Amino acid sequence: DCPNCCDMVLFGALGDLSRRKLIPALYQLERAQLIEPQSRIIAVAREDMPAAQITERVSDVLKQFVAENERDDDSMARFCKRFQYVCMDFSDNASYQSLQQCLEQKQHQRIFYLATPPALYATICKGLHDVGLTEEPTRVILEKPIGHNLSSSKDINEEVGRYFNESQIYRIDHYLGKETVLNLLALRFANSLFSNNWDHHAVDHIQITAAEQVGVEGRWSYYDDAGQLRDMVQNHLLQVLSLIAMEPPSRLDAESIRDEKLKVLKALRPINASNSQQMTVRGQYAKGFSGEKKVPGYLEEEGAKENSETETFVALKAHIDNWRWSGVPFYLRTGKRMPEKRSEVVITFKKQPHNIFHETLPDLPPNKLVIRLQPDEGVEVEMINKIPGLGKQMQLKATTLDLSFDETFKKRRIADAYERLLLEVMHGNQYLFVHRQEVEQAWNWIDGIIAAWETTDESPKPYPAGSWGPVASVSLLAQDGREWDE
Ligand code: NAP
Repeated sequence: DCPNCCDMVLFGALGDLSRRKLIPALYQLERAQLIEPQSRIIAVAREDMPAAQITERVSDVLKQFVAENERDDDSMARFCKRFQYVCMDFSDNASYQSLQQCLEQKQHQRIFYLATPPALYATICKGLHDVGLTEEPTRVILEKPIGHNLSSSKDINEEVGRYFNESQIYRIDHYLGKETVLNLLALRFANSLFSNNWDHHAVDHIQITAAEQVGVEGRWSYYDDAGQLRDMVQNHLLQVLSLIAMEPPSRLDAESIRDEKLKVLKALRPINASNSQQMTVRGQYAKGFSGEKKVPGYLEEEGAKENSETETFVALKAHIDNWRWSGVPFYLRTGKRMPEKRSEVVITFKKQPHNIFHETLPDLPPNKLVIRLQPDEGVEVEMINKIPGLGKQMQLKATTLDLSFDETFKKRRIADAYERLLLEVMHGNQYLFVHRQEVEQAWNWIDGIIAAWETTDESPKPYPAGSWGPVASVSLLAQDGREWDE
């Protein structure tokens, strides 16, 4: 027996997510010797192939998705040896027997990763339950999306909840595994400079941007059912917003943090038909450029249906109705086919009440804290300094204190989000996973926006691929005398 050993069961082990993210992440944990030597990885999929072939398949995945300088023979050999393959159709209840037999060979902790379409979650959980594989301390990991709206997310949560307790369920939002998102906790709660200036007295407004340069990447119909609001805002952007806005948790544990995040989601001012015109902008990309390359518009992509009204860009103005954030708007924007891939949070502090430098700098710019989430992780503080020199008048300049993670922590490899998240599940720590109530509260807010959009016959506003979205996104801030940080 090995009480710390685990069997990680990957449902959908030959699918896209497993190949691109999960298997490479587990390999990195192997390389860092963070997996118990006897732990196993059980790949489960429906392709009928000899079980021994899984080693070859895994090795191919590593060659394709792990950088050459990170592949060493020893780690690769150790890693491939951990794999077993079980062929099963997830919707066939009888086929769970073979999985059970495989797992029964060892008395290991069991983790089931459901890297499958969410429509299968209930079926899989029931299949596992019927062969006695759901008892504590077994854990189950669920991928997004958890539903399409509040009602369908409740259905999924209830189905899964029939077989697993909330303490066994790990809902992934991979943003919560990003180094810089976690650094938000350090920045806020380890530095009095920021923790004492983190409210409506000190902060003017906050911007959260998640820009993608890619378009729909061949997944038009999948994407068209969701759109950018469901695909990015309901989960990633609202999670980042909750971490920024939450009250200080009393401890660094799952219950304390998730309770505080939930309070933020509950305090979001509803957006509905009466205010959505002033609070939201929807866009859809038209043809344009990605870098130098000409690219088609959303409605000209392969597989597109003409007249689709799905948004590929959203900008929102959110208010958190509580004491800390009274009167401080949170501007959120996310889109496909933006000029670059960039996710960041910008906290703009209030201006000085009086400017003694008005002769040389009539408009004293505000301080800003910029947290770059990707691709070049880091933290910047924009501040005013004196330009060295003997001139009669003091010359000032806005300068940036730039802490790039790559530069500052030179020898440290920045781990991929999935590496950290998989490790946390193995350790049984839920603080980086989303509670059922958070998912449902977020959907509740998003449903209000979608319902408001459905009451108008307005289509999403077109924007050329390679731009920062429709002009209305600029106006959203301009109406408040502000602009997006570029
Ligand atoms: P995918 O490529 O379609 O993989 C799903 C896998 O499940 C496939 O290998 C598929 O096998 C298998 N499968 C489906 N039905 C099955 C059944 N009845 N029995 C046995 N196997 C079955 O999908 P994915 O992109 O990896 O996504 C997996 C999950 O992660 C989804 O919930 C998705 O929303 C989520 N997600 C994915 C990404 C991403 O980057 N890909 C990002 C975030 C979230 P076949 O190949 O034989 O059909």
